[in-house]
Amino acid sequence: MNSDSLVSKSLNRKRIIVCLLICVSLLSAGVGIGYFIGAKPSEPHPTEPLGYAANPAYEYMVGSTAWQMSAEAHALMMQGFHLAEKNIDEMVGFADKELNGYRWVENNGEKKLYLNGKRVCVVCDIDDTLVDGVHYTANILGKNGEWTNKAFTDFVQSEGCTALPGAVAFANHCKQHGVAVFYVTNRYDQGYKLTEDGYEGQEGYKKADGTVIGSSTFDVFGKTMYDITMESMALLGFPTNDSKNPNYWEDAILLVNDTKLNGSSKEGIRIAIAEGGTLKTGERTHESNAYPGTVDISSHHIAMLLGDDLNDISQIFSDCENAVDRVALTIDNIENWGCKWIVFPNSVYGSAANYAAQYGYSNLFEKFDYTDPDGSVWDIYN
Ligand SMILES: [Mg+2]
Repeated sequence: MNSDSLVSKSLNRKRIIVCLLICVSLLSAGVGIGYFIGAKPSEPHPTEPLGYAANPAYEYMVGSTAWQMSAEAHALMMQGFHLAEKNIDEMVGFADKELNGYRWVENNGEKKLYLNGKRVCVVCDIDDTLVDGVHYTANILGKNGEWTNKAFTDFVQSEGCTALPGAVAFANHCKQHGVAVFYVTNRYDQGYKLTEDGYEGQEGYKKADGTVIGSSTFDVFGKTMYDITMESMALLGFPTNDSKNPNYWEDAILLVNDTKLNGSSKEGIRIAIAEGGTLKTGERTHESNAYPGTVDISSHHIAMLLGDDLNDISQIFSDCENAVDRVALTIDNIENWGCKWIVFPNSVYGSAANYAAQYGYSNLFEKFDYTDPDGSVWDIYN
């Protein structure tokens, strides 16, 4: 191979890596899909192999999306909800016999589940935990479309936006057994980037420091993302504390994390739910039909956390430095999976993709090279 072709291949490789990172960043930052996943900042690793694929960014997205649409992925989703329901049933059994600190407390003729004086609740992410977003991704990929907040919001308001199989039944199982449900999402009313084509000159959406970054979902649809999400969840059949929802339940509460104020970590909301307190919900609440500027939350026992990204589960995973340490940390917490922590498959975007890209694929594969006599990474499995 001559030096020109090597240079050309190297440039192509850089373009591909940049393309992949842009895709992952757009997906994870929610610029297109509308949810923040909270990745570590990703920089391309400089030594990726040349010959993995003609266009690994596209290949990655197509492969992961196809898998996400598979029967196997859907089986895992239902497996997760069945496990979660069984855990609820176990707590209900304890309460019936007043064992292990579980008790029923009757309120307005409704039985509510308590543990050691605290209301029992579950904390659920929405996108790709309760609501299936893969068809949005597939549509963008199949039509070479653009990842924009408008496109995502159009999807959320379409009939193609469906609940994961088992999700509505699980939420109603919680309602039936007096377990409070918190929907905690990073679907925030984000502004478009002014640099995106077609959005120049729009009314500004201001960051905390007053910098204008673009217009928001509200400016396009006349509704905040909170209100759009509330309507969508009701249409899908989830219980919510919206009086217009036929499946109204006061103990099914939607909390939108203001990623601009809080970053993508949901830890602040988790702490507020566990310890109780007043949660500042963020900006644009004055334009919402229903979302108050602050929410008072009593102290709860979080029985389970459900998410497709480990950032939905615990801050320890958000703080993790790299992809391999993250695996080790996951294994170290083996006792929690399927019990307190319920994880749903998401091959398409999020921390799994972000950490791998940041680490470097070739680095990752070499790290787990079983033919390396000096390799020690296998220790993480012990
Ligand atoms: Mg999610």
